[in-house]
Amino acid sequence: MLTIGAHLSCAKGFYEMGQEMLAMNANTCQFFTRNPRGGQAKELNLNDIEAFLNLMKENAVEKILAHASYTINPCSDKEETRIFALETMADDLNRLTALNGQYYNFHPGCHVGQGIETGLMQIVSLINHLLSTQTNTTVLLETMSGKGSEIGSTFDEIAAIINQSNDTEKLGVCMDTCHIYSAGYDIVHRLDDVLEEFDQKIGLKRLKMIHLNDSLTPFNSHKDRHAKIGAGSIGTEAIIRLINHPLLKDLPFILETPNVFEGYKAEIALLRANYG
Ligand code: FE
Ligand code: FE
Ligand code: ZN
Repeated sequence: MLTIGAHLSCAKGFYEMGQEMLAMNANTCQFFTRNPRGGQAKELNLNDIEAFLNLMKENAVEKILAHASYTINPCSDKEETRIFALETMADDLNRLTALNGQYYNFHPGCHVGQGIETGLMQIVSLINHLLSTQTNTTVLLETMSGKGSEIGSTFDEIAAIINQSNDTEKLGVCMDTCHIYSAGYDIVHRLDDVLEEFDQKIGLKRLKMIHLNDSLTPFNSHKDRHAKIGAGSIGTEAIIRLINHPLLKDLPFILETPNVFEGYKAEIALLRANYG
């Protein structure tokens, strides 16, 4: 069965998010750990989490994805910004323990002129701090489009981060289709080659989740503009090939397309109808 869901709001609690997930015929979902613009995370409601975990179990939902706020920057040129990223992510991981072993995705960050090597080193240092304390959550690096000084838009950079990290058992990758197409990986015409390169450089066993998005901008444009499925430069056909690829078909897919409930529900129906 296709494991697919969408980015949802957790503002009204986990149980309500779970109900919304099921109502759109999804069997996974993603949520922001806190307001994406930063700020305090809400007080954890353990009853709500327990009800949500039961809902997951009853409906055979295996994995969900927490997404760190995209405003934190682990490789900023300002030390206080790097410390803020570390403290925020450590707090997120601490809270996510209550969810019993899910995934936590983050953007590696922008080196803002410090250079890629310095940026990579700072990201490795962040990961080493985060994973040195006990966590049941697997931390995922998201592949980026390479806009501005963004790190993580090449498989080499992602591999460099993983290879230099101390404890990689709880470290993986979330591949964003919009981002990698924008970064110059041609998943429309050369999906096999792209996956082979991923496997050689990073290892497909690290690939835990896929962000399934079409791209508003052309191939190799180094922009980050998500489009609805079929409304961008990747197109429905290539996306259907991708979810059916033998190396990808069993992974969880998360839609981050510009949609609310009905739009997500329609995309999930379309993809389910064209799977397997
Ligand atoms: Fe993201
Ligand atoms: Fe993404
Ligand atoms: Zn994006």
